[in-house]
This record gives sequence, C-alpha cells and structure tokens, in this order.
Amino acid sequence: MQTTFPTVTVLAIPFVNTTAATLLSHLQNRIDQHQNTFVVTANPEIVMYAHQHADYRRLIQRADYITPDGVGILDGAKILGQPLAERITGFDTLQALLSWGNAHHKSAYFVGAKPEVIDFLRDILPDRYPDLDIVGLRDGYFQNDQDVVADIEAQQPDMVFAALGFPKQERFIANYRHVTHGLWMGVGGSFDVLAGTVVRAPAFWQKHHLEWFYRTVKDPKRLKRIAVIPHYLKLVRQQAKQQK
Ligand code: UDP
Repeated sequence: MQTTFPTVTVLAIPFVNTTAATLLSHLQNRIDQHQNTFVVTANPEIVMYAHQHADYRRLIQRADYITPDGVGILDGAKILGQPLAERITGFDTLQALLSWGNAHHKSAYFVGAKPEVIDFLRDILPDRYPDLDIVGLRDGYFQNDQDVVADIEAQQPDMVFAALGFPKQERFIANYRHVTHGLWMGVGGSFDVLAGTVVRAPAFWQKHHLEWFYRTVKDPKRLKRIAVIPHYLKLVRQQAKQQK
C-alpha cells in the first residue's frame, strides 16, 4: 500500500487508521490529480477469505487503501491493542463521492448488481446527481470482461464503482485498474442499497453497532457472513498473543 496513513494490520490486512472525512478528502485530491487509486472496503468475511486465499490476499494488499467496513474489524483492532479511529463503509464512501462528484462535475462508471437494479438506477441517478457525468451503468452479470473494460477505457471515468461482490470485484479492479487514471472501488451490495432494493439499518441500529443484526434478520442469507466472526476473532486473539 502506498498510503500516507498509519495502518493497523489485522490478520495480514493493513487497514487505514483515519477518519472517513480525512480519507474522503484524500481520495478527492487523488481524483483531481488523475492518480490511479484502488480502494478496498473490507469486513471480517473478506479478511477471512483473504486469510484462506493467498492470491486474493496479495491482490488486496496491493490496494492503495483498505478501509474498516464492519464493526468486526474495529473489534479486531481493539483486541490487538491498536484501536482504529472509525468505521469507513463502502456505502458511505460511495455516497460521499457521488455527492462530491456531482458538485464538481466529475464522471462515474457503475458496474455491478442485477439488470433490474441498473435499470432503476438509470432512472433515478440523473435526478439525484444532475451534475454528475454518468458515463457507464451496466449490470454485473456479463460474460466477457473485455467488452466492459474496453468501454471503461474509452470513457476514462474519474471514478469506477464495481458492485460485483467480493472476491470478484477486487479481482476485476486489480486486473483492469491500469486502463484509467482514476479511482476504482469495490462496493459490494451498495447499488442495491442505492436503488432501495436493500435497506440499510435505521440509525438506531447503526449507532449501536447492530447493523449486522438488523440486516441478518431482514436477510437470513447473511447468516453465513456472521458465521465467520467467532473463527475470525479467535485468529485475531492468536495474533495479539504472538505480538506480545
Ligand atoms: N453481483 C454481480 N455479479 C455477480 C455476483 C454478484 O453484480 O456475478 C452483485 C449482486 O447483484 C449484488 C452484489 O454483487 O448487488 C453483491 O452483494 P452482497 O450483498 O454480496 O455484498 P455486500 O455488500 O454484502 O458485501
């Protein structure tokens, strides 16, 4: 990572230790300067997947910024005695970049989610962000990367948001980020949230660090996501012991 921020390494993944606002202004500067940037927003499930898949681990270690997206990462950092400043979620970062992009006439490319979600975004995004230049909106169920990549290269967007779920979105970004001089970020299910097909937990649940609980009750498929937490915490405790 070529980050200028201090990091806290949780199971070999270096997380930026900064606030969302500071990171955001940093990303905005890099976009203004046409610097190629790869942002990973990682939760414990991603960390565990990286722990078990060395190729994926190496790939995300080469990102410019890895942010703690999930309270599990904050808990892990605390166990290590190196608390992180705050949670920086993919969805909040996406929204902030879209608002800023709208205010500064930047261009954005959206790739990912189901065709119906993309159709819906095609309707609502121009109203929500009238001055954002939306140069690409395509679903994440394509067969051939090359068509998509050629289009991104031709458009040269300031920002590419890939909502393909992990590990697909990070692999896609790592493979193709060199075709533009802009920012690339994997945003998981964020297009679904933007479109309103998935709702974020109300503020109360977010504030009390219970968003995971709310979303699991709403969507039991997410159970497998939180099922990794005990094993993850066990490995972090082992890391903490080794570091003593
Ligand atoms: N997805 C996609 N292409 C695929 C597989 C998944 O575009 O081949 C999309 C899927 O429609 C969803 C997102 O990737 O919008 C993954 O969302 P998930 O809820 O798994 O991500 P999270 O935000 O919870 O990490």
